[in-house]
Amino acid sequence: MECEINGSLPILDILISKTDSLNFSFSVYRKPTHTDRYLNKLSNHHPCQKIGVIKTLFDRAKKVSDPTHLDEELQHLRMSLQANGYSLLEINKVFSSKPKQLREKLPHLGMVFLPYIGGVTDKIGRILERNNIKTIFIPTKKISEFLRSPKDPLDPLTASGVYKILCSCGLVYIGTTKRSFLSRRKEHMRFCRLNQPEKSAIAEHALNNLSDDILFDNMKILSRTSNFYVRLQREAIEIYKHPNNINRQFDNICLNKAWHLVLKHLEFLTAEVNLK
Ligand SMILES: [Zn+2]
Repeated sequence: MECEINGSLPILDILISKTDSLNFSFSVYRKPTHTDRYLNKLSNHHPCQKIGVIKTLFDRAKKVSDPTHLDEELQHLRMSLQANGYSLLEINKVFSSKPKQLREKLPHLGMVFLPYIGGVTDKIGRILERNNIKTIFIPTKKISEFLRSPKDPLDPLTASGVYKILCSCGLVYIGTTKRSFLSRRKEHMRFCRLNQPEKSAIAEHALNNLSDDILFDNMKILSRTSNFYVRLQREAIEIYKHPNNINRQFDNICLNKAWHLVLKHLEFLTAEVNLK
């Protein structure tokens, strides 16, 4: 909850201040934690995306600030944009540009998504534009994609996906769940406890092999994904990779034979890596 401080109250990105008992003034509000960091001029993005940053900030200043605060806001933008690598010349050029007259355009024939590679895909984009096809430039790999997440990982068992439960006899059960691994494991344990073999292949195995121990504490996560089709496909792959499974045929989808060659090849590659 925001409270009025010295006659001012922020709401979203607007700071509303009392000027007297009847009037208010409006200016752009930034949280105290705001860093004024925007898309850097040196970043590998299409130039129009960079101009878009300047333009968006300029438009917001004009929309939000009243005339008494506009100059101050524009001055702030000039400073922070320069700190992000933009030259005063290009900032002022965007600030002083007149709004474009909207020309009536033919609807685009289609849209193309291309990675932005300066000097290559922007040229392709221009050719496509001439043929009335719109191009959306997507940034190539970002540094953040190469780095680990700094956040503390959640308990992996709270995710969903494909898992493996081992039995002391050496056989395994491959399963998939859209809920958390934890709740699915609890369910299997309950089916075992209540002797309900029809509800779980693990319970059936435990009932038929009373001297075996199901190693529930040693549940292994094989893949984390919540997508239904991906999970089913992955489960079928894992069942194929674990011939020592106790899964019941009718519980799972059948793996297309096309996968067999791919999996054999992958197995060969992994074995090669392990040897090295
Ligand atoms: Zn067993």
